[in-house]
Amino acid sequence: MRKGRKSELFSPQDKLIFLVENTKEYVIIVLDTKGKVEDWNKGAEHLLGYTQREIVGKNFSRFFTPEDRKAKRPENELKKAIQEGKGEDENWLVRQDGSWFWASGMTTPILDKVGNVIGFAKIVRDLTDKREIQQQQEDFISIASHELRTPLTIAKLLRDALGKHLKQTKDIEGIAYFEKISHALNQLDTLLRDLLSVGRMQTGKVDYEKEEFSLWDLTQDIVEEVQQTTNSHHIEIHGTKSARIYAYKPQISEVIINLLTNAIKYSPNEKKIIVTVSSAKKFVTVSIQDFGIGIAHQSIEKLFDRFYRTPLSREKGVPGVGLGLYISKKIIENHKGTLGVKSTVGKGSTFSFTLPFLSKRISSL
Ligand code: ADP
Repeated sequence: MRKGRKSELFSPQDKLIFLVENTKEYVIIVLDTKGKVEDWNKGAEHLLGYTQREIVGKNFSRFFTPEDRKAKRPENELKKAIQEGKGEDENWLVRQDGSWFWASGMTTPILDKVGNVIGFAKIVRDLTDKREIQQQQEDFISIASHELRTPLTIAKLLRDALGKHLKQTKDIEGIAYFEKISHALNQLDTLLRDLLSVGRMQTGKVDYEKEEFSLWDLTQDIVEEVQQTTNSHHIEIHGTKSARIYAYKPQISEVIINLLTNAIKYSPNEKKIIVTVSSAKKFVTVSIQDFGIGIAHQSIEKLFDRFYRTPLSREKGVPGVGLGLYISKKIIENHKGTLGVKSTVGKGSTFSFTLPFLSKRISSL
């Protein structure tokens, strides 16, 4: 009875205020238009270590690392919130005692009735534990893929020698086993290449330079190479021969190989694959069309996520791990381009990437 009467004293609004003030898992900070703290909740005190009195009136930039302050990250966060309606980010933040934590945050502008920005609300969550687990997984993938590279290279060399020997001795049964081993080694090779690329992407380290080259020549060379690995498909190539770009050539090769091998893998009953290179005034596009299993509409938005595989490809038992498209998209976006797909289930898919048609001089400006 007493309990019931007590809760009647709280309106839904009071309950919301109580929740915001007392929640410990989320930091909620109210900033003025310049980024000075106007108010904050218990969670902020708990996570950042300042009392309300110590922090009100101070600029929120003090929560950022010295590097981020130098790079004007706090100012940019507020600008982004105004321009895009919200700013989301993950980065290190600094507590009062100088220790750091990995924060996932969102900043939203607070508007008055006529739409003027009168301040900001910043919500932050501590994700240090999640970040550490992610880091351990990334380190493991990177070490494992490097360590597997050498024995795999040796196995491939021995495979080639064994292949020659079996052909000379005309050992039919041996050749059948050899082909199975060879197929498995190729799958392992693709998987390792993908894992190494993911590792490189995370560290941002590459051991080659950007160069200017013909996208037509590169695509044609890759089409010829891939054609030699398959009897089941015929790859046609059409288009503009003049398309030159300035890019990391090994990375662009990787994208084309990924898309072409997918086109083959996911069209087991159709022969034809069409590759088109086309150029507009400022952009050059490579499209790879297959007539295979296709991709359901609801799978398209997840297609470029790490480890995503469509239910259809699992059903059909096509082998893969779901890294190639994730890597390809990152590579193309790092070159300021776009990668997309159009597809119909049962009719096939066309993957296309577009890159700025840049000369060395322009892209290095
Ligand atoms: P993988 O092929 O190793 O699984 P990818 O990242 O290259 O990984 O592709 C992710 C998923 O997208 C595939 O598992 C498959 O479900 C789908 N996919 C990619 N290319 C095609 C294609 N040409 N046709 C149909 N589905 C495709």
